[in-house]
Amino acid sequence: MANRIIMHLDLDYFYAQCEEIRNPILKDKPVVVCMYSGRTPDSGAVSTANYVARKYGVKSGIPIVFAKRMLKDIDTAYLPVDDKYYEEVSSRIMNILKSSADKFEQESIDEAYLDITQRTQNSYDKARELAYNIKEEIFRSEGLTCSIGMGPNKVVAKIASDIQKPNGLTIVTPLEVSGFLSPLDADKIQGIGKKSAKALSNIGVKTIGDLAKTDVEKLVQLFGKKLAYYFHDAANGADQEPVEERNEPEQFSRILTLKEDTRSEEAIVKDLDKACEDLYQRVSAEEYSFRNIGIVAIMEDLTPHTRSETFEHGVKGVEALKISAKMLLEKILEEYPDLKVRRIGVRVAELVKKQGQKTLTDFFST
Ligand SMILES: [Mg+2]
Repeated sequence: MANRIIMHLDLDYFYAQCEEIRNPILKDKPVVVCMYSGRTPDSGAVSTANYVARKYGVKSGIPIVFAKRMLKDIDTAYLPVDDKYYEEVSSRIMNILKSSADKFEQESIDEAYLDITQRTQNSYDKARELAYNIKEEIFRSEGLTCSIGMGPNKVVAKIASDIQKPNGLTIVTPLEVSGFLSPLDADKIQGIGKKSAKALSNIGVKTIGDLAKTDVEKLVQLFGKKLAYYFHDAANGADQEPVEERNEPEQFSRILTLKEDTRSEEAIVKDLDKACEDLYQRVSAEEYSFRNIGIVAIMEDLTPHTRSETFEHGVKGVEALKISAKMLLEKILEEYPDLKVRRIGVRVAELVKKQGQKTLTDFFST
């Protein structure tokens, strides 16, 4: 593939920043956006924290009670996640980005990749100018800051956007790629989590530079062929993944927190059925059928366990969904006889858009 210029844009502490925009009085104090599980007033996890809260050690994923301990006696705004509002802000920003790219790919509610090779005539000077213009436009229209990374591919751009936050701009030209990546910790590469980082550290690989020099066969033994080559290529700054518009959702899911941690199949199935019904209604309304059903059980120790099953034809009817989900649950309960379940969720994937006219029956067949 010819030389490309790829931009990765990440809106800074997005949910918390949206809350600051809506209510500017919050700006100078800690803002903690919380995903409440509904069990007790404080149970749940932190979704996003602003930078004031981060100074006290609060970060996404920690329990709300921990955050409250860290911010004891400090005037803090604890706010519930407001998905609808964030999605509105996000979609307006994504429209700005779409119109600034040759090719555009939204990665999540607050991240996107832009291929800007043609419109910048492959010039990093022009790319820098474009990046400043985009930042300015987002700030002017929505009042939000973002961090941008640019490089010859998605892997480099993504890592670059994360290096200087908030409100960063990091440009890595092809000649700078190796010097930029080498000193960074290996887990900066997307997909290298705690477990993989530990396995790498056991064979003496700490940095991306170490990883780049490691014999790929050694990595194949640890991670299997597909991941090994992806990690090795990424570490060498080589990545051919195109920026591609994602029009269709890839999956739908619904997860619920049980009233109490339990192993009672009857109790879990009650909530699982409810999750299936909610999910099926949504998927049908969007006119999809699906071939893959998965469930996730989050245990009392917060480990997630998943099982899934793929069918040859689209699954028909909510009852079929419930039956499969129940069977998958039984497998998990059998496999982990000592753990109680805390949250239960169902997910459908391998979506197929329903063809032709929709009939009333399609809507009411659930
Ligand atoms: Mg972000």
